[in-house]
Amino acid sequence: MGQSVQESVGQSVQESVGQSVQESVGQSVQEQDGIEAIRTAARDLVAMDLLELHGGNVSVRLDEGDMLITRHHVNKSVPTADDIVRTSIDEDDEFTNMASSAWLIHRAIYQRTDAKAIVHAHGQLTVTLSFFYDAVEPIDENGIMILGRSVPVVAAPELMGWNLAAGPIADALVDNKVVIEKWHGTFAKGVDLVDALHKTRSMEFSAGQIIRLAQLRPLMPEPRFPPTKVSEWLGGVYRPGIRRNTL
Ligand SMILES: [Zn+2]
Repeated sequence: MGQSVQESVGQSVQESVGQSVQESVGQSVQEQDGIEAIRTAARDLVAMDLLELHGGNVSVRLDEGDMLITRHHVNKSVPTADDIVRTSIDEDDEFTNMASSAWLIHRAIYQRTDAKAIVHAHGQLTVTLSFFYDAVEPIDENGIMILGRSVPVVAAPELMGWNLAAGPIADALVDNKVVIEKWHGTFAKGVDLVDALHKTRSMEFSAGQIIRLAQLRPLMPEPRFPPTKVSEWLGGVYRPGIRRNTL
């Protein structure tokens, strides 16, 4: 038994060395970095309870008109390099059919916006709010700062027909950082995946504040809301280099 374990250990090391050399052949540094960023973001999304294991999808824009995107139906908690495909943003190729089922939305977002990375997640509280509203207005200070005054909600015309809403979802992300797909989840754009994940998490936090306030309002004193006057400087006091984001 000891021998067979030893043999299999030696074999797997050899195999994995061979595989990693093979995988890295022909890959640019940008592509290798993108694969690692997608693996990290996918694991983080599951750890943050923003995805079921096989749900959602994550992508990054590459040079030469391509994107890296998670494959259809992969387990996001243990993503490997094989779970990510490189495919064209503008035309079908041999890898298009392997990409996530929301590939058309990712394509449209890259074509119409400045997004460098996209996170599609299934935040539970955000989805709950989407049943009630066609736009969600954050009420907490961080939500307003990160997401803006209003986050649009876009509905697909048919059940499980999310790619049919690719155009409106992409259009909504021209001037917004996050768009909510009604009854479903969020699409967030970012300068990288950490940025897109940050905005996704922020949306879920803000949705939680809205829901908690509604739940507690009958039981608690009347809530006070943040001032409408926006501070000129982040933190309210001038410090060189720390300027607030433009709302
Ligand atoms: Zn989804």
